[in-house]
Amino acid sequence: MEKYLLYINGEFRESSDGGTFKAINPANGDIIAEISKATIDDTQKAIDAARKAFDSGIWSDLPGEERSRIIKQIVDKINENAKRLTLLEVTDSGSTIKKAGEDVFLSAKSLNHYSKMALLNLDEEVEGLSKPGVSKNIVKRDPIGVCGLITPWNFPLKMAIWKLGPALAAGCTVILKPAMETSVTAMELARMISETDMPKGVVNIICGEGSKIGTELALSPKVDKIAFTGSTEVGKIIMKNASADLKKLTLECGGKSANIVLDDADIDMAVDGAIYAGFYHQGQCCEGGTRLLVHEKIYDEFAEKLKAKIMKMKIGDPMDKTTDVGPIVNESQFNSVMGYINTGKEEGAEILVGGNRFGETGYYIEPTVFFNATNDMKISQEEIFGPIVTMIKFKDDDDAVRIANDSIYGLGGAVWSGNDERALKLAERLRTGTVWINEYHLLSDRAPFGGYKQSGIGREFGIDGLKEYTEAKHIHIDEIKDRSKKTWYGTVVPKD
Ligand code: NAD
Repeated sequence: MEKYLLYINGEFRESSDGGTFKAINPANGDIIAEISKATIDDTQKAIDAARKAFDSGIWSDLPGEERSRIIKQIVDKINENAKRLTLLEVTDSGSTIKKAGEDVFLSAKSLNHYSKMALLNLDEEVEGLSKPGVSKNIVKRDPIGVCGLITPWNFPLKMAIWKLGPALAAGCTVILKPAMETSVTAMELARMISETDMPKGVVNIICGEGSKIGTELALSPKVDKIAFTGSTEVGKIIMKNASADLKKLTLECGGKSANIVLDDADIDMAVDGAIYAGFYHQGQCCEGGTRLLVHEKIYDEFAEKLKAKIMKMKIGDPMDKTTDVGPIVNESQFNSVMGYINTGKEEGAEILVGGNRFGETGYYIEPTVFFNATNDMKISQEEIFGPIVTMIKFKDDDDAVRIANDSIYGLGGAVWSGNDERALKLAERLRTGTVWINEYHLLSDRAPFGGYKQSGIGREFGIDGLKEYTEAKHIHIDEIKDRSKKTWYGTVVPKD
């Protein structure tokens, strides 16, 4: 069994009270690791280390080339350890090995992209109030400072990298706090970072309870920004805590995205797409297509084909390369998802397929589709975060847009159609951060990702994502050196 210690100021340490917690394999209940559980005192030490490292300029003052080189060393470490990281991701989170391998590959790819972003000079010269030649106006982008990075359990390594990458590229120092359910690969990251030239204190990684150490990060006046991915509920708590000192925030929160199938779609492709959108990683995806909106003309045919295809999905051991559906991350999440299956039945939706626990060991749930669901049902409005899709009927494009936008969330969504122009028009009317046309889940390191409405604040990826880790500073340089030629706006300066 692996043992992981906290990573603070470049050193591995036990927690101050010696406390630990266990990492459990959700496929079989095995304990796979013991991890030190940070106390408030440990959290403060990690914050102090990050603060000292930031204020010393040891990272932010390095030339972009040097920061880029060191970030690239982490990329190389991830690639060298890809197999180990993949296996740990499977045993720690219940991810299928297919998904875990892809996550590790994409984590390295994203971090590599950020290593290049460290080379960017985001400063620009803009026109000022006075005429050109009279003043010069520079907009500089300074690193925002010390960042608390708080991540969820569904894509453990990837979520850590999505935050670590832009923070380090921008010149910030960090305290990364992964979810307790899946802390193992973040601690592996600590080990790998300790083997690079990263200066001490720039990256600190601590595990433990969000309600304690996450709260400390959000409240501490020594932390300049919180970058959070997780539930909308916790996002709101963080926002409240961070308001004490107007800390900067990016929040990537929940979703209930509409996956819209128009009557001119290639039905077989859209069926595959609906499975991918709704059941990728057992439906534990914030942007998942959990509300499946299907045109009334094709609704029954679509349902029949969807059911037949879902019956072919292989549920079971996530280590098996042919497995499509692995376990839910833990018992409490399993119980919550099973509870929603009951809720759907009580609300009067019919089960098209699934609806049961699978097997007796491990937290497996059959991919489940509710048929003839309506958008006002709880199962259509609340984020379930499991393999549950609600199938809702619509009449025409206006009706689809109305239903899709009738949600407190606005993170993802898709349109399936044989007519790109029609699909694009519809996509433009959706109040959501990402829309795919005849595709799902694919994100780009170069395009912003984030939520409208209660799906979040701010964006990750692309230049927008990098700028979230900077403060904009305007420097106005007056170029009139002769006092007699100077004009003071307003009248407060008396003439000689
Ligand atoms: P969660 O909100 O329970 O926890 C997320 C993180 O916040 C964990 O590290 C947790 O320990 C920490 N935390 C908990 N309470 C805290 C507090 N009071 N103060 C500070 N930190 C605290 O979410 P989860 O269950 O780990 O993940 C599932 C949720 O994440 C879903 O709602 C999902 O939609 C969301 N998610 C969103 C995105 C996105 O990009 N929008 C991506 C993945 C997951």
